[in-house]
Amino acid sequence: MKLKSAIIKAQTLLKKKGIESSILDSEILMSKIINKDRKYVILNPDKILSKLELDKFNNLILERAKGKPVAYLTGRKFFWKHEFNVSKDVLIPRPETELILEQALFHCKNKSKIKILDIGTGSGCILLSLLEERKDFQGIGIDISKKCLDISKINALKLGIINRVKFYKSDIDNFNLGKYDLIISNPPYVNRLELKYLDRDIIGYEPLSALNGGLEGISEISKVIGKSSELIKKKGKLIIEIAFNQRDKVKRILKSKGFYINKVLKDFAKNDRCIVSTKI
Ligand code: GLN
Repeated sequence: MKLKSAIIKAQTLLKKKGIESSILDSEILMSKIINKDRKYVILNPDKILSKLELDKFNNLILERAKGKPVAYLTGRKFFWKHEFNVSKDVLIPRPETELILEQALFHCKNKSKIKILDIGTGSGCILLSLLEERKDFQGIGIDISKKCLDISKINALKLGIINRVKFYKSDIDNFNLGKYDLIISNPPYVNRLELKYLDRDIIGYEPLSALNGGLEGISEISKVIGKSSELIKKKGKLIIEIAFNQRDKVKRILKSKGFYINKVLKDFAKNDRCIVSTKI
C-alpha cells in the first residue's frame, strides 16, 4: 500500500473516533514507523510500505483511536527546544508549562551559578530545558516515582547535562537537602472531584499521581509552598503552575508563607496558569 493511502485510511478512522488532530497524529505515527521526519512523510505520498510497516502503523492507529496519546505511542514529546523521552509513568510535557521556563529565564537573566530545585520533576522537561539554556546553573530534581527519575536521567544524558543535575526519589515532605535560589514546580493540581471530567486521553492514560491535587486541587501545591519557604534562599524565586481557578487561594498561601507575589501569568487559553513569587 502507498503511504498516502495508509494515512488517509488512518486519518478517516481517527476522525470518526472524534480525534481532532487526526491528520497530524497519522503523520507523526507514520514517521515513527518508517523512521523519517514528518516532512518526509508529507513529501513522499507514493512511497510503498512493506507489509510489516503497514501492520505496525495500523496497530498504532488502533491504539490512538482508543485514546492513547501520541506521545506515549512514539515515546517522545517536544518541549521548549528539545525532544524529551516520555513513558506512561510521566506526565506528557505541555506547552503551557513553558511559562515556568520563560519566567525562570527572565528572572534569572542576570544571575550566575544558581542552584535550582524542581519539585515533581516528571520527565525533567522544565529543569533540563533551563539547565540547557544556562550552562552555569545546577539543579536537583525530586519525584516520588522512581520510574519518572529513570526517564529524567535518560533525558539529562541525551542533553549532555547529567553532570549538572542530580535526581532524588523523595516526596516534598521528606526532602531537606540544600538551599535554593530558584524553586520550580508543576505539581498535581486537579481537584480530585473533577478528575473524571478530564479528557479521556488524559485520565485514561496519564499518571494519576501527576494530576490528583486532592481536595480543591491544592493539597500538593500547599505542601510545595510550605516546604519551599524552608528550602529557598532569601530573595529566591518560587515559580509554580496552578489550575485556572486557584489564583487567589494560592496567592493567600504564598503570602502566609512569606512570599511576595511578583505576577500571575495566563496561558494561551487565557487561563491563570503560573505564579511567580519571591521569598522575603
Ligand atoms: N494541566 C494538566 C491537565 O489539566 C494538569 C497538570 C497538573 O496537574 N500538574 O491535564
